[in-house]
Amino acid sequence: MAMIKRAITQDGFIRAYCLDSTDICGTAQRYHHTSPVATAALGRTLTMCAIMGSLLKGAQDSLTVLIKGDGPLGGIVATANSQGKVKGYVYHPQVDIPNKPNGKLDVSGAIGNGSLSISRDLGLKEPYMGQVPLVTGEIAEDFTYYYAMSEQTPTAIALGVLVDVDYSVKCAGGYMLQLMPGASDAVATQLEQTVRSLPPVTELLSDGMCAEDILAKLLHGLPYDCMEDIPVKYECDCSMDRIEKALLSLGAKELSDILEKDGQAELTCQFCPKVYHVGKEQLEALIERCSGVK
Ligand SMILES: [Zn+2]
Repeated sequence: MAMIKRAITQDGFIRAYCLDSTDICGTAQRYHHTSPVATAALGRTLTMCAIMGSLLKGAQDSLTVLIKGDGPLGGIVATANSQGKVKGYVYHPQVDIPNKPNGKLDVSGAIGNGSLSISRDLGLKEPYMGQVPLVTGEIAEDFTYYYAMSEQTPTAIALGVLVDVDYSVKCAGGYMLQLMPGASDAVATQLEQTVRSLPPVTELLSDGMCAEDILAKLLHGLPYDCMEDIPVKYECDCSMDRIEKALLSLGAKELSDILEKDGQAELTCQFCPKVYHVGKEQLEALIERCSGVK
């Protein structure tokens, strides 16, 4: 299973997180049959979402990332919980657009202009919501901007997904460095230089480095302590119960229409390949439940 490696400098001013998310992004690619650019967009978002999920404190806490754009990809949804489970999907998984002139997958071109929203469900009445406009659509920069604007936390983020010729995920990963309040400008500058001088995450991973090695590179020259690893994986917690709830939310009228037209309902989970068959009797029972509520 993938592990989020975590470290904190001994002066307490820098927190660092690094994840080799190859398995997570590989699962996402297989589940959704995403094109390379969609794999990169979804993989980067899942990687960041997993890291953010590891920062949640309560056992029931979860967060959802929604990136919406006017490009051909449409949007990206990813959700993670404090138990190390992450999942996601993109609106249009088959998007195929030309690479950038430098040969890289054009993630920002696929996403277009739009916004990044994050909602955290911390068991309170209302989820905590934050939203920023996309600054580049390359995702890492957008999350960095989110942290600066919504949470006033200076953050350095790098995310990368390398797609193989057969469309599978060759490697993927990401890291986040956060400056805690009180960190000096000198520390911030040094960190910025380190991050800028590092090659892309996928290059480091391709060179055989593990998440721990990358952390060591990031915090080079700074005494730090490692914190406990956090295991993460792509896992969907869908169930017939949830499918029924989704159907109930459509209302009696809509459900009656489905019953009349198709005699049954067949729903595929948005996050995983599981297909749910809702038969005639089950549909009738749901319609009754809907009507009963009224
Ligand atoms: Zn599912």
